[in-house]
Amino acid sequence: MKTPLYLGVDLGGTAIKAGLVDPQGHIGSEGERPTLPERGRRQVIRDMAALCLDTLDRAGITAADVAAAGVGVPGRVDDRTGVVKWAPNLGWRDVPLAALLGEALSCPVALDNDANAAAAAEHIAGAAKGHENALVVTLGTGVGAGVVAHGRLLRGAHGLAGELGHMTLYPGGALCGCKNRGCLEMYASARALAGPGQKAVIEDPDGLIAYLAGGRPERVTAELVARCAEKGDPMALAAWDRYTSDLALGLTNAARVIDPGVIVIGGGVAQAGEFLLRPLRQKMDALRIGGAGAPGIVRARFSARAGIVGAALLAADAAGEKG
Ligand SMILES: [Zn+2]
Repeated sequence: MKTPLYLGVDLGGTAIKAGLVDPQGHIGSEGERPTLPERGRRQVIRDMAALCLDTLDRAGITAADVAAAGVGVPGRVDDRTGVVKWAPNLGWRDVPLAALLGEALSCPVALDNDANAAAAAEHIAGAAKGHENALVVTLGTGVGAGVVAHGRLLRGAHGLAGELGHMTLYPGGALCGCKNRGCLEMYASARALAGPGQKAVIEDPDGLIAYLAGGRPERVTAELVARCAEKGDPMALAAWDRYTSDLALGLTNAARVIDPGVIVIGGGVAQAGEFLLRPLRQKMDALRIGGAGAPGIVRARFSARAGIVGAALLAADAAGEKG
């Protein structure tokens, strides 16, 4: 019997990525195009379809060889109707994306939000495989999270389950893009590391951060601050310590609600590996999630490709249920 193949699409605010994925999460051919959402949704969807067909073409197959396609969307979706309800980065409201793309590709199309796609990738084929209950967190420009409960993605009544990034960590704290104050995202996204790093360039011009950034604050990234912390730079270490404490607090709060067997950490900041995970484990232990029932804290298997793989595997799952 031939291995079924699925198309996975990661629709981001800046790029659309597509890949051909097998049931184990391996990616065959893949491709990428700029999203340019200001062109309007019609053009974006047409481009997405062309990218998909291009990706198939490079693998030497056609849409008829694909069992289903899935799209991970940066926003709120109705996974049952395949409608994008609201995607602020794209300016989309009530777009029937599954129907429109399905027409162009002549195969069933499933939709979910990008955080759920990442969670599906890790749950089905990655670091959370074998766990019935898991929390998959992506630390990037924002803080995304997906929850696996009793072996299924938890979506909630309005598709808003797992909105960990907007849990209030510090009432009255920093103003978030969602208009609330003190959201976890303000303390645990990549910006929470880059911000203090940029300040350090000015306040500590002889420090390692300023040196590696060439004295230019706009060059400071979360990854640069992590690297400087690893090398023992005091300003970077202070930022890192604050960051891991705040993240540990947010994860502990989440763990108390869902009791995950494992917490999977992905995204740009997770590239620091054990340098991030070790203090997280220690600080979560100190918050008394330790001992019996403590979740394992591990790094994601799929980082930049979690969206592609997850969208494809969700499509496989949806096709399996209908078929
Ligand atoms: Zn918020």
